[in-house]
Amino acid sequence: MAHSETKSHQSPGAIRPRRSSRASVRQAILLAAAALLAAACTGGSTGPSGAASGKSIVVTYSILGAVVKDLVGPEATVTVLMPNGSDPHDWAPSAKDIETMTKADLLVENGLNLEGGMGDAFTQAERAGVKRFIASDHITVRHVGAGEGIDASADQLAGAPDPHLWMDPLTIRDVVAALAAELTTDLGIDVSARATDLEARLTALNDRLRAILNTVPPAQRSLVTGHESLGYFAQRYGFKLVGAIIPSLSSQAESSAANLAALEAKVRATGVKAVFTELGTDPSVAQAVGRDTGAEVVQLTTHAVPADGSYFTFVTNIANLVAENLK
Ligand SMILES: [Zn+2]
Repeated sequence: MAHSETKSHQSPGAIRPRRSSRASVRQAILLAAAALLAAACTGGSTGPSGAASGKSIVVTYSILGAVVKDLVGPEATVTVLMPNGSDPHDWAPSAKDIETMTKADLLVENGLNLEGGMGDAFTQAERAGVKRFIASDHITVRHVGAGEGIDASADQLAGAPDPHLWMDPLTIRDVVAALAAELTTDLGIDVSARATDLEARLTALNDRLRAILNTVPPAQRSLVTGHESLGYFAQRYGFKLVGAIIPSLSSQAESSAANLAALEAKVRATGVKAVFTELGTDPSVAQAVGRDTGAEVVQLTTHAVPADGSYFTFVTNIANLVAENLK
């Protein structure tokens, strides 16, 4: 299949040190650098965790975690609770995870019931006095069936708030600005310079994604996904949500024969070239839709960060796959 994983950018041999007469000189330089690093680390400004502030931030899932790490840098310790690749819609914390949460200085959550299995744990953390930052409190929430270019008939839960806020870099930019302010007021950590830089990079990222997606002719900007995960993306870049294999905001809902028949009729009627499957989508159902309609079935990573841990790579990969398969 053409849609293989991103190729490794490693160049074999590049990292192998060559043996040369200058080896001893290089070793001396390395030792000096190590000494400088050790001096910097014992400078007295770091807390017990190794972070500059000694503060601990716990984030629920991987993609939001990537953004928070980018914002916070060395200023605090950032721990992501859910293992990368697990389904945030149904992941439940262990007793140890709850302990990690209750010991945090700040808990960063997505909200809008994305973390469907964590309700009790959030309550416990709050009772333990942990401050909570809920990302969706600081954005313009998309509601299903609302918004420019959205086909309301594709949604079975019209009016429901959509938790997939990470699919739009400018929505993430709103989260970054709000979190930076909260870090100052609640934790006494000043990340304002890092926030300004990250917000500028997210603005540039949005411009790049728009350029990638503008290569898809307007008439072909139709999305069929595993569950309804690309609403913010569709709203931002002028795509229409035709339907989903699981017609729900959660991967954990059920599909039905009637829904699949209606979806296949829409795919045929609109001439959608590709069906995007994702975490929580039954592969055999996706393959059946592809077989019945002639649409290509393409795997899209919508709920996990790539190997480099970067939000920027994550969302660029999605834009590239959408553009490549719909234009
Ligand atoms: Zn989802």
